[in-house]
Amino acid sequence: MIVLRTAKEIDVMRKACVISAEALQIAGEAVKPGITTYEIDKIAYDYIKKQGAEPNFLNLYGFPATACISINDEVIHGIPSKTRVLREGDIVSIDLGAKVDGYNGDNAATFACGKISEEAKRLCDTTRESLYKGIEQAVAGNRIGDIAYAVQSYCEERGFSVVREYTGHGVGTSLHEDPSVPNYGTPGRGQRLLPGMTIAIEPMINQGKKAIKCLPDGWTVKTLDGKLSAHFEHTVAVTKNGPLILTKL
Ligand code: MG
Repeated sequence: MIVLRTAKEIDVMRKACVISAEALQIAGEAVKPGITTYEIDKIAYDYIKKQGAEPNFLNLYGFPATACISINDEVIHGIPSKTRVLREGDIVSIDLGAKVDGYNGDNAATFACGKISEEAKRLCDTTRESLYKGIEQAVAGNRIGDIAYAVQSYCEERGFSVVREYTGHGVGTSLHEDPSVPNYGTPGRGQRLLPGMTIAIEPMINQGKKAIKCLPDGWTVKTLDGKLSAHFEHTVAVTKNGPLILTKL
């Protein structure tokens, strides 16, 4: 069921989204050679708690941390660990959110650890840009397929591939709501976008082939070919005046 939210409700939700965005920014600033993913997670946890909010990934479906931190060929859902030390040249995807006053924010970005390769940078830039191409289509009257196609075509034209098994989603009083927001699709198809819809758009883009596998830890998703993957996400409200990025600082 898709819930439409009033401007007032979206305003309340914006608070959770801003804390989510600030936590992501601070976690991203901590990405440096030598730090563990556990330490980055702790920084995000402490920041969210200090704002009087709750880390909404923690314990969701049993996930044991505040942030999913996925390095290089890890696509999503990497579990922070005291033994995962970042190295120069890594690309580090951090996905996290905060809940406050009953509403959720959700956002993600891939950060460079020190100096990264040209090809890694091109993947990250393309994935970030594709998110904005998708957001441009989050306009009342358009359909989910318009967002999906914008992301997919932008990335595929640049030689990258789109993960199929995981998608964006509605977000509001629950972190994951209807509708599903895939990163591949056909323009003019799928659910029509209506003012008051609040959705997370989150391209997961691979350097090589689109196939993925899940590790035996039951969480970490990696590319099957071992090539890099990047992930960017914003929480966006569809409004009468166009898309409103709620997780934008
Ligand atoms: Mg999400």
